[in-house]
Amino acid sequence: MTARKGVPTGGPIGEEEKVRSVPVLLPLPLQGPYDYAVPDPLMVEPGDHVRIPLGPRELVGVVWDRPAQGPDDPGEEMGAPPQKLKPILARYPAPPMPVALRRFVDWVAGYTLSAQGSVLRMALRGVDTLETPRMRAGYIAGGPLPERMTPARARVLEVALDGPAQSITHLAERAGAGASVVKALIESGTLLPVAVPVDPPFAEPVPGAPELPLTDAQIEASESLRESVAARRFSVTLLDGVTGAGKTEVYFEALCQVLEEGGQALVLLPEIALTVQFLDRFETRFGCRPAEWHSDLSHSERRRTWRAVARGEVKIVVGARSALFLPFPDLRLVVVDEEHDRSFKQEDGVIYQARDMAVVRARCSDAAVVLASATPSLETLANIDAGRYHRLVLPARPGARTLPSVEAIDLRSMPPERGSWLAPPLVAAVNETLASGEQALLFLNRRGYAPLTLCRMCGHRLGCPSCQTWLVTHRFRSRLACHHCGYEAPAPKACPGCGTEGALVTCGPGVERLAEEAEKRWPEARIAILSSDAVEGPAALQALLDDIAEGAVDLVIGTQMVAKGHHFEGVALAAVVDADTGMALPDFRAEERTFQLVTQLAGRSGRDAPGRVLVQTYQPDSRPVTLAARHAVDEFLAGELERRRELGYPPFHHLVRVVVSGPGADGPKAVLTELRAGLEGLDGDRLGPAPLLRLRNRSRAQLLVKTANPRPIAARMARLLSAAAPAMRRDGLTASVDVDPQSLS
Ligand SMILES: [Zn+2]
Ligand SMILES: [Zn+2]
Repeated sequence: MTARKGVPTGGPIGEEEKVRSVPVLLPLPLQGPYDYAVPDPLMVEPGDHVRIPLGPRELVGVVWDRPAQGPDDPGEEMGAPPQKLKPILARYPAPPMPVALRRFVDWVAGYTLSAQGSVLRMALRGVDTLETPRMRAGYIAGGPLPERMTPARARVLEVALDGPAQSITHLAERAGAGASVVKALIESGTLLPVAVPVDPPFAEPVPGAPELPLTDAQIEASESLRESVAARRFSVTLLDGVTGAGKTEVYFEALCQVLEEGGQALVLLPEIALTVQFLDRFETRFGCRPAEWHSDLSHSERRRTWRAVARGEVKIVVGARSALFLPFPDLRLVVVDEEHDRSFKQEDGVIYQARDMAVVRARCSDAAVVLASATPSLETLANIDAGRYHRLVLPARPGARTLPSVEAIDLRSMPPERGSWLAPPLVAAVNETLASGEQALLFLNRRGYAPLTLCRMCGHRLGCPSCQTWLVTHRFRSRLACHHCGYEAPAPKACPGCGTEGALVTCGPGVERLAEEAEKRWPEARIAILSSDAVEGPAALQALLDDIAEGAVDLVIGTQMVAKGHHFEGVALAAVVDADTGMALPDFRAEERTFQLVTQLAGRSGRDAPGRVLVQTYQPDSRPVTLAARHAVDEFLAGELERRRELGYPPFHHLVRVVVSGPGADGPKAVLTELRAGLEGLDGDRLGPAPLLRLRNRSRAQLLVKTANPRPIAARMARLLSAAAPAMRRDGLTASVDVDPQSLS
């Protein structure tokens, strides 16, 4: 490869020189841009999408900015002669990548220790072609009438006069005529051909009236958010209020402000596939569906949306975290709904926390940010305490349902009967609920039938052959499965340890086993399981949610799928079957998660009916359980914040987590020991190297650094890891770095 990396070879772009060159960033895991020659008479600017040669391939890159040069910078003296540079082949007519997005790509790469090119790839994802939008022929009525008019011709003409240019097939279909009738009208010059883009335009959202009249508190909050948008400055506001307080209506007002000013806005939601309810609500308010951006989009929808965003035609995008990398030319507002949600963390590829990156994205565009939540994240609360973010608190709507009662069931004094997973008070509560014709919901965050199978004779446990984990029994598929690597096998008849037949027993419940118990106890009840195994795809999920909403289901048994974004208005009783597994994890966020879960479940249930939440636990006196029972969100969060401050954990310190994996246990440990030594002299506590569970036949170990300032650590680590890369490749070792990790397992 003759193209070189990141060394300035030419002057500023456009200046007259013998060979002009520009840095071009490629969507490949490379650290910086490479220089390419600009052949005459081509003119390119930073942000332009260009086609460049790379070995035998051609690919799309983006003209990047030259790094600023200091006065002592030797500049042009460095590097190979410019004539050796490969030339840019073409510039695409697409709108240039906005400078705000280019700065964002640089920032994310620097912060997450990722290659700039890998981050750029996310900004070009789904862009299969950047050629001019393809056109197709359409026809409009406009020429002289045909000499002979028939009823069929008249119908076609009538349809052609109604609306924009239409294809032959479309006209024939609508008029109920044959294609030959349409073709005859084209021949006679009555229908005139015009070129129309293949991609239909997006409907324009129009600010309508709110569903319900806004309360005084909502009006006050809306005005404050409208001002933040109008200020055209970077700002972050937390919109804090219980479920049902009307947060969505308030940030819809901020979206109206953006529409009135003609700018663009992005609404980020967790788990986009699960938000049909949200889209319906948006449509009611704005008269059309918003543009969407998530992994379920088809290729052509993706291309259509990307283009329309780049051209500024799409005003509002509702999307998953990857929507942060769309090329908005005029972004004024970013809303992050359910900002505490864990699914905002991207865990593979470039590892980033979309809520935090949304704030950075807005800062690059001088835009306003709204974070909405009923249980704000501690990171956000710490930023409010430090005066960096604003906070708007919305009280519950007057006349809104009262918060459901939350009670703990102490499993020490009231254990379930043998072979059952539901304690007597919970069984009684479900009995009552079903008897009165209302819906109940049981939450258990464990997929499958049973999390463990062991031998009664020898104690052998069925584990995954490639991972250090137990196999989960799935009755639906009548197989054992590893939830880490996807390994599946039929259940063996005999114990692999001692050979005894019929000695294997399943231990503990998953949702399938809970459903089995429920079927026995309540044979009349209509039971639905809401888990990723039982529900395939967004359409099936929506059908099931509709059934639940229409009262066609009496008892819902679900995994974390139920705790996310859905409202179960008719659910009068919600129960957490096992509140303790979460807290048992060796993770400093465990209590926060348990608290959020109980609080969310309380928010999800009983919009109409008086709600009741029961929590089965061996630790009824723990902080998350007692405070969730009192709906003491502020008290819990304040205490948790204090505890984190004392322990020096996030959000007061950052964590940088490096995981190295390899074929044997020694390799990862050695690499991390060396890495740890290389960080000598820098601020922060080092924890490890510590071994982790073996997954996918690879041993793993981690080093954790706790620091107030992750930048110098990250920079040093990037250098050390890139120096160690050749040796690691030779030994089959891979490293991944996660700045601000969400989980430590
Ligand atoms: Zn055995
Ligand atoms: Zn496995």
